[in-house]
Amino acid sequence: MSEILAGFAGGSFSGLPFCQNEQAELSGTNSSSRLTIYDTAHITMTYAALVSLLILGDDLSRVAKEPIVRALKKLQQPNGCYIPCITDFEPDLRFLFCAAAISYILDDWSGMDREAAIRFIHECQTYEHAFSQSPRQEAHGGTTYCAVATLGLMGENACADQKTMTRDDDAGEDDNAFQKRKQAAGYFDKEGTKRWCLNRQTTGFQGRVNKPTDTCYSFWIGGALEIIGGMDLVNHECNRGFLLETQSKIIGGFSKWVDSSPEHRVQEGNLIEEKSRGGSDHHFLDII
Ligand SMILES: [Zn+2]
Repeated sequence: MSEILAGFAGGSFSGLPFCQNEQAELSGTNSSSRLTIYDTAHITMTYAALVSLLILGDDLSRVAKEPIVRALKKLQQPNGCYIPCITDFEPDLRFLFCAAAISYILDDWSGMDREAAIRFIHECQTYEHAFSQSPRQEAHGGTTYCAVATLGLMGENACADQKTMTRDDDAGEDDNAFQKRKQAAGYFDKEGTKRWCLNRQTTGFQGRVNKPTDTCYSFWIGGALEIIGGMDLVNHECNRGFLLETQSKIIGGFSKWVDSSPEHRVQEGNLIEEKSRGGSDHHFLDII
């Protein structure tokens, strides 16, 4: 198998069995002749698989780490962003975040040109001070989380706000070194991002200006605020009230809006976050 395919696939979408080598051996056919270019690993599935393994308590010792890192290197584009797999040319912040999360989990950043990646993130910061999916688009809650979380995973320097950075006298940093560090940090207006995020709260949160409030943004915007600071300025009571209102009284579960059908993908982080903040009014536990 070509190294560029290293990682995890979403499933046997192309109709091939999941474990090709094993199946090929059983059926006596040659595995390589049965591979197609469309049956490839996907950066988001690799991220999801690694996180799931960690949640399940796996130590990742059976994961082929080096080939995954080498594959990442090939998926990064000249503008610093990533495409999700070799058959897809949709580079945007979602896949840059996945690449950063994979690098962080595997503790190996050699699959990423970090300077180019940071440059791409800064290009996605809009006049509203939040982040769009690609440069010159509209700022969005999901991609703002992706940008901020990527910078956060890269470490303190990447997440620094150029405007508020100060010279590190304790470490003996001279003016030259300080200016260089400031330059490398680029322009990340953390305070502006924080203001944009906080202004998305209505009762719950909306993902863009003038869009309806939607449960998933309690996670995306809440996650971004948790990283850059500002959760203490969120009205948690209002947010919890909105989330509880979106649950189905008949079959349980949460929907993105009040009086809609529940979806499994909006359940995950929202109430866990609210619960961990000491909310005492957990009616949802009676229903689920
Ligand atoms: Zn949503």
